[in-house]
Amino acid sequence: MPTPVPSAAGFRFTDPALASIAAKIAAGSRLDQGDARTLFETSDLMGVGRLADAVNRAKHGDVVTFAANQHINPTNVCILRKTCVFCGYARLPKEQGAYRYTLEQVLAEASHAADGLTKEFHIVGGLDMQAGLEYYATMFRALKANFPHVHIKALTAVEIAHIARLEKKTWAEVLAALREAGLDTMPGGGAETFSAAVRDIIADKKLGGADYIGVHRTAHGLGIRSNCTMLYGHVETVQDRIEHLQMLRDLQDETGGFLAFIPLAYHPDDNELGATLDRRGTATAGTLDLRMLAVGRLFLDNFSHVKSHWIMVTQPVSQVALHFGVNDLEGTVVREKIYHAVGATTPQAMSLEQLLRLIRGAGKVPAERDSFYRVVRRYDDPAQDPAPGPSLGAPPLGASA
Ligand code: SF4
Repeated sequence: MPTPVPSAAGFRFTDPALASIAAKIAAGSRLDQGDARTLFETSDLMGVGRLADAVNRAKHGDVVTFAANQHINPTNVCILRKTCVFCGYARLPKEQGAYRYTLEQVLAEASHAADGLTKEFHIVGGLDMQAGLEYYATMFRALKANFPHVHIKALTAVEIAHIARLEKKTWAEVLAALREAGLDTMPGGGAETFSAAVRDIIADKKLGGADYIGVHRTAHGLGIRSNCTMLYGHVETVQDRIEHLQMLRDLQDETGGFLAFIPLAYHPDDNELGATLDRRGTATAGTLDLRMLAVGRLFLDNFSHVKSHWIMVTQPVSQVALHFGVNDLEGTVVREKIYHAVGATTPQAMSLEQLLRLIRGAGKVPAERDSFYRVVRRYDDPAQDPAPGPSLGAPPLGASA
């Protein structure tokens, strides 16, 4: 149920339409699609932010969480290389730059976790015909054997459906086998924007929105929790965004299996879509990034967590987003490749010290969480912080696989 905002009635808005939305929230009423449209279109962005911040504070107070995670992208070989026109990461098998890690390479990359700081592997890659159930099951078993303390969050709904097709198995059979091998939760990537009209333009061969929801429903039914995303800032309309959020909210009503909503900003460099739109070098506006997060917080009233992905929107925007309804930051990330392949210019890792400084700079209290968003350590007192150290053994910027 929506969380009431005790003081919403006391807000002043330059757009009177926000006052009626504030009253609805304060009364514990659910926002409808018309409200979502108002939130997307009003010129009173700060009013939207204040509402989202109030709802977020009612759920989480001043605590902002992060997880110490490491991204591993095991293969960039993908059968949809030619049809996902927003993607600059994928390669055909014989194309220059194509790679598929051996198990030894995965373990070598994962070895950063040997210091005990990394608590989660975030594993996603391309739809590779040579990377089926055995490839990933063997990988997960080896990772669990070598790093038993590390949670495995792996394989988007799109990858699960691809493996199922390859193996001629159902989604449920693949998910059950991977869970047995060590899969703990699923990331939310691959959603893009659910609208069929948008998918026709940006990803016409990719798993459709209804099937993305279907895979997550199946996972939740098996007790595998997941995140969900939306790619925004390309060709989608406001109505497309609203319908996407509606589908996520509906599944959350049904299963309660989503852990967090993570809006993902489209990056126009080094991909075909960016050239078509004449958008190279023009990332999403910071105002859109903030609005997307705030509307997510307000419309998705049945979600506990809204995360800002600093790799995509930059650290300064993520810091401001902590006042726009965000309660979680992408954590310390080691060697992210996918968004850097399409022009993200952010660093590829943040140290613990940098994260603590960023969160405290917004007047919030940093807290490390586990992969189920349970707080495992609060950092209330800077005097008690660990001594500064390297950023989880991150390689030099620009290092390639
Ligand atoms: S977005 Fe994913 S599925 Fe599409 S080409 Fe890139 S890696 Fe492949």
